[in-house]
Amino acid sequence: MKLFDVYPLYGINPVKAKGLELWDGQGEKYMDFYGGHAVISIGHSHPHYIKRITDQLGKIAFYSNSVQNPLQEALAQKLGALSGCGDHQLFLCNSGAEANENALKLASFHTGKAGVIAFRGSFHGRTSAAVAATDDPAINAPINRQHKVDFLAFDDFVAFGDTIDRGEHCAVILESIQGVGGLEAPSGEFYRFIEKKCREKGVLLIADEVQCGYGRSGKFFAFQHHGIRPDIISMAKGMGNGFPIGGLLIRPELKPSHGLLGTTFGGNHLACAAALAVLEVMEGEDLVRRAESQGAYFQELAAQIPAIKKVKGRGLMIGLEFDFEVAELRKKLIFGQRMFTGNAKNKKLLRFLPALTIEKQQIDLFFEGLKRALA
Ligand code: PLP
Repeated sequence: MKLFDVYPLYGINPVKAKGLELWDGQGEKYMDFYGGHAVISIGHSHPHYIKRITDQLGKIAFYSNSVQNPLQEALAQKLGALSGCGDHQLFLCNSGAEANENALKLASFHTGKAGVIAFRGSFHGRTSAAVAATDDPAINAPINRQHKVDFLAFDDFVAFGDTIDRGEHCAVILESIQGVGGLEAPSGEFYRFIEKKCREKGVLLIADEVQCGYGRSGKFFAFQHHGIRPDIISMAKGMGNGFPIGGLLIRPELKPSHGLLGTTFGGNHLACAAALAVLEVMEGEDLVRRAESQGAYFQELAAQIPAIKKVKGRGLMIGLEFDFEVAELRKKLIFGQRMFTGNAKNKKLLRFLPALTIEKQQIDLFFEGLKRALA
């Protein structure tokens, strides 16, 4: 049987990983400055993560959401304490798209409306309403285009005010820092304007923290840089360090009822063990603070490289902008320097999304490799 060929692949087959290092089948070592697309938060194969998951596997790996699962409660407690959103309610699912799909559905149930306001350059996933709120016609099929979505530009206060005043929308969804879109983010003033207008109009504000959340930006959630309080926060990627898990944090004013949302696999025992291990390591190794300090060190070094025209992003969610398209540079980095990096819709942007455990000397290695690749 053939694989359904939807991914352009690099000819590399990683068979082993530890921290920020990966090895292919020939024993060749690579540095992972991409974190498997911002997923690896605490480093590959962290010993505490391995132990937690292995121990859980020896007890019970899965049962359906028809029985009690104290691991879900433990996860909610820990996440509440570390994120500063302890008054929210937790709903667990399996991926970023599923988190956003449920966030939009919940907003629609709550308000009785169907319209959504999203932003230019957005990426929210590939399922029904999530992809409809994604600013990319190429990945929207006719079935997705039935959703009513208004795409607006960041910081266009007038367009936002006029659109939300129509009273047709259940939600405003935005990535607190855009990922695939290329590290774009609105001004703090615009965030606060969105929040104010949403409250005024009874529209729910959804912060998509799937990529920028979980400490990556130097705060637990990236919206926390702006002092706003979204109604729903969606999470995934860094949450399980590679184990598939996603979730929503939901404001206490939004009341649940049985059957409103649901999933077979979401919040299973093994996924909760993985997510608890991630939070325990984040707390024990102070990884949110570390993302901030290592990010600052990275920016210092980036400023010394003339070929880099602009540094975008926060913490360890960084984009380096060049005055040329970076596809060739990425190839040189991966095959010549054995370093994984990421790309974005903005073809001149090279993305740096390492595990939050990154050491300064590993950041030095990145710049040494980059300089050689640029020479
Ligand atoms: N939201 C954002 C901001 C993302 O970056 C992504 C994935 O890249 C998603 C949602 C979708 O997540 P998933 O691929 O887990 O469905």
